Amino acid sequence: MRAAWSYLRARVGNRLARHLRVAPAKLNNSGPMVSFTFDDAPVSAARAGADMLEQYGARGTFYIAGGLVDAWSGNWTGASAGDIVDLHRRGHEIACHTFSHTRMTDLTAAAMAAELAKNRNYLLGLDPSIKIENFAYPYGTGSVLRKGQLGAAFHSSRGILPGINSGTADLQYLRAMPLIDCEIDRDGIDRVFDEAFDKNGWLIFYSHDVETTPSPYGCSPEVLRHALDAAARRNIPAMSIAAALQFAGV
Ligand SMILES: [Zn+2]
Repeated sequence: MRAAWSYLRARVGNRLARHLRVAPAKLNNSGPMVSFTFDDAPVSAARAGADMLEQYGARGTFYIAGGLVDAWSGNWTGASAGDIVDLHRRGHEIACHTFSHTRMTDLTAAAMAAELAKNRNYLLGLDPSIKIENFAYPYGTGSVLRKGQLGAAFHSSRGILPGINSGTADLQYLRAMPLIDCEIDRDGIDRVFDEAFDKNGWLIFYSHDVETTPSPYGCSPEVLRHALDAAARRNIPAMSIAAALQFAGV
């Protein structure tokens, strides 16, 4: 029963969160752009994934849940504290998830504030020069009740509602496409790049592990490379969420 309530609350809260815009912003990017983001984040994303981005001169955004660091989560092992510091020093963005990976709709305002403070303190404890500006909803579940609170704490929050961000976007519910082998193929990747190009839009990919045989939530190195090649062919710059927001003038 408790689980059923939690599920219902997540569905309703998430649906409302899509429609109630608390942070509409006009994107003023002078050209299309793409961001590669990794949630939680697995050690394979922090190592193989980041290495591949760097081969293309790109930097990614890693939404870290402190409670998953160095821990086996059932599908992968989380990046270590050392990996996170290393990512930061190499110019990747370290961004915020909830510390324990609890979804928004299961948190009261006070519990969410505590989760965010714990995660922020954890990351700043690793390296005080880490700037924590952006957030991703655990499980992609937005919460209409928490959007205002998130807006006060973060420049942006990313969900997993599919689509390209263009024109006026909701900064507290940025749209994103899966870079996940089970969910998108090479043609699908090319199509979303074409759409981003046509709309002068901001394409955000989300993924988790980067493994030859990825989990149902991750991608293979071949698919990541395909997406990076697709961006390079179209001259679409790949930048972190923080850099893209700056490029868009918001
Ligand atoms: Zn997550």
